[in-house]
Amino acid sequence: MKTVADFNFTGKKVLLRVDFNVPLDKQYNITDDSRIRAALPTINKILKDGGSVVLMSHLGRPLKKLKEDGSVDKEKFSLNHTLSRISELLGQNVMFSDDCISEEAFQKSAGLKASEVLLLENLRFYKEEEKGNKEFAQKLSGHGNFYVNDAFGTAHRAHASTALIAEFFPGNKCFGYLMAAEIENAEKVMFNARKPFTAVMGGAKVSDKILIIQNLLDKADNIIIGGGMAYTFFKAMNGAIGSSLVEEDRLDLARELMQKAKEKNCKLILPKDSVIADKFDKDANTGISDNMSIADGWMGLDIGPQAIKEFSEVIKSSGTVLWNGPMGVFEMQKFEQGTKAVAEAIAEATSTGSYSLIGGGDSAAAVNQFGYADKVSYVSTGGGALLEFFEGKILPGVEAVNN
Ligand code: AMP
Repeated sequence: MKTVADFNFTGKKVLLRVDFNVPLDKQYNITDDSRIRAALPTINKILKDGGSVVLMSHLGRPLKKLKEDGSVDKEKFSLNHTLSRISELLGQNVMFSDDCISEEAFQKSAGLKASEVLLLENLRFYKEEEKGNKEFAQKLSGHGNFYVNDAFGTAHRAHASTALIAEFFPGNKCFGYLMAAEIENAEKVMFNARKPFTAVMGGAKVSDKILIIQNLLDKADNIIIGGGMAYTFFKAMNGAIGSSLVEEDRLDLARELMQKAKEKNCKLILPKDSVIADKFDKDANTGISDNMSIADGWMGLDIGPQAIKEFSEVIKSSGTVLWNGPMGVFEMQKFEQGTKAVAEAIAEATSTGSYSLIGGGDSAAAVNQFGYADKVSYVSTGGGALLEFFEGKILPGVEAVNN
């Protein structure tokens, strides 16, 4: 795997795909700049070598969220909102081009001098980006003579700027530091996990996690299942689950997964009990119930104390832990205990030498929220990309650079 550390960028003009898809408030202020910060080491390495950088990214889904008159909302989805923060974090002025493939954009990239930076407007203003259009990719490739991909968050998409573009830079392409770290950490768990290997799966839906559970049945010693998706398993065992979340069309699948786990000698561990609530609300009345007999009108919104105890013990005796998805509705204080306890158990396991990888999205948000981000081995920035990797799929953004 080639990374920016393997090259000297003196005199090079680097077209760098980053993930600057940051959250913005109504006044277009950045509410969390971690994605920009995550790309800084790569940008700084190129600039320090004496190269120049053309940054390209997407922001939101402008073609899916058109204005009422059917036009693209170029104000709302403009990467211009990120410009001052990027400049501030880099400690230098960054230029901007308000279209990624206009004549003006190419004039600006052509005129870049050593150690200068240009940011291109949102790639997704063009439908060709998400369609993976080769001509669009070729056009974009005209902005530089070297291609670096540091956008792990979109590595599972075969988009023009993440995958197709790489072929126009034979011998002159590599991964950025962030992307390399993401791949290394994911590969470590997937191919070299120290045993026992425990995968902790949570979140709302089984349907989102079927492929990953199926793939992990061959690799993990334990698969812990929490969150809303656990109730589909209890329903599949003829349990009474009240009004808990359930996917009626996945009951057979849940039975099949439990059967396969047995055959493969992988322990599928379901929560023994739940914190139940009389409504989906932060002020709901709550109680504790086992998961085979939840009363009508009540729903499980978090794992219960027995489950916390069992899950924590399994986690603490694991050599490797992979965690994706919360154990309950952790956004509400009354239902955060299970997710918090899992984060704490993983931090404790890590402190005694276990390796822990936290999947992106809600699990990453949870370890940050509860203050455990620096007490685990690695927190991934890529939700969908990491999931697809653990489903056993090849990520187009990775493959394109490796080829
Ligand atoms: P996912 O996007 O599938 O990882 O699901 C994350 C969401 O699942 C979070 O917003 C949680 O609030 C929600 N969630 C977790 N446990 C439950 C539950 N028992 N009932 C309903 N929603 C849940």
